[in-house]
Amino acid sequence: MTQHTHVHRHHNESMLSVEEALERILSFFHVLEPEEKPILDALGQVLAEDAVSRYDIPPLDNSAMDGYAVQASSVAGASEGSPVTLRVIGSVAAGELPRDEVTPGTAVRIMTGAPVPRGADAIVPFEDTDEIARRNSGQNLSEIGINLEVHVGAEIRPSGQDVRKGQLVLEKGAVLRPSEIGVLASLGYGTVKVIRRPVVAILATGNELLEPGDEYGAGKIFNSNNYSVAAGVLRYGGVPKLLGIARDNLESMNAKLREGLESDILITSAGVSKGDYDMVKDVLAQHGKIDFWSVKMRPAKPLAFGVLTAPDGRQVPHLGLPGNPVSALVAFEQFGRAAILKMLGKPSIEKPTVEAILDEPIDNPDGRRVYARAIVTKRNGKYHARLTGDQGSNLLTSMARANGLAICPEDLPRKDAGDVVETQMLDWPEEVF
Ligand code: AMP
Ligand code: MG
Repeated sequence: MTQHTHVHRHHNESMLSVEEALERILSFFHVLEPEEKPILDALGQVLAEDAVSRYDIPPLDNSAMDGYAVQASSVAGASEGSPVTLRVIGSVAAGELPRDEVTPGTAVRIMTGAPVPRGADAIVPFEDTDEIARRNSGQNLSEIGINLEVHVGAEIRPSGQDVRKGQLVLEKGAVLRPSEIGVLASLGYGTVKVIRRPVVAILATGNELLEPGDEYGAGKIFNSNNYSVAAGVLRYGGVPKLLGIARDNLESMNAKLREGLESDILITSAGVSKGDYDMVKDVLAQHGKIDFWSVKMRPAKPLAFGVLTAPDGRQVPHLGLPGNPVSALVAFEQFGRAAILKMLGKPSIEKPTVEAILDEPIDNPDGRRVYARAIVTKRNGKYHARLTGDQGSNLLTSMARANGLAICPEDLPRKDAGDVVETQMLDWPEEVF
């Protein structure tokens, strides 16, 4: 089949706000099923079960300091000027169980985390004893001088202080950060049930594309979209499945699409604007139902979204990003990211924003929502945004310089220098990753 014989279809093309497009897209996604995996591998994923403790944490009353376990009444009135001398009857380290019972006038040497011996009701830290002086003068440690009176319970961490046996510690739906991973470890979980990560198939289209690493060819460009999008997929918690490049012909498109159907979402780039070979759109339409939208945003106005049917009948959503590298990334940040977060069961899908003071104007010539590439800095406690220069959607380095997208709303022709604008953060001024 040649380019001239393919069927022209009438595609339903409509103008949508960003919110309408996002709502339609998200309605095709649901939270994925749970998987069980080692706790460290679950970083960033969402808990699919309640975590209930089978133990008290800490399990026993234990010492918060290296020192001596005593009865507070034994050292009443002790001070540096008139120390109280106690007989040392034993010692206990973390991980041991104490053998000795503390009685009036006696003490047990104890290390941080060691269980408090029976009879003791307080710990005196080493620095409030004459231990060092005794050691330095060659005396043995069968006795110890206490330089401080202590109250009952001093430096004792009670059992169950952090967590009680039977307590619901982390609820289903919690996102696992380093602290939650630590809590799971403290509860004795080796593995945990979490919502699995979505597999995101990523496909570039175009006869002009080379893979990075290929030999450079005149008139060709390197495929950057697959890599920026795959990196975004990784960052937001998906598993990228790189399908490479489909050429602008039926055979190539069909072969790649079949691979793309073995995923939770297929993301393509290019081939959705007006000047493109319609063939690409027609091939997609043969595999399911696909709509072409004009979204009231700049960059990234043309967008395709549809549902493809796999050979086994499974429905696979397809997000068709624009080809220009900045448009592809901005559209991925608005729509692809949200779909991934929804499948992961994340509690919050909206991109984080700050209010920033514009250092220069943003023009909005045709009533779309402008996402201007911006460098956001914090000065005197306030966020400021300046633009990264020429806003052409082909200028990928201008995206690399940005850490935010400063927004001019669709109903305003312009935002002026000094105006406060909502700014979506790509990264935070304080961090680079
Ligand atoms: P198209 O939508 O196919 O007209 O592509 C729009 C623009 O994006 C063209 O200049 C393409 O060369 C460029 N483009 C398309 N795909 C990619 C890609 N994967 N990486 C970099 N640029 C691309
Ligand atoms: Mg193209």
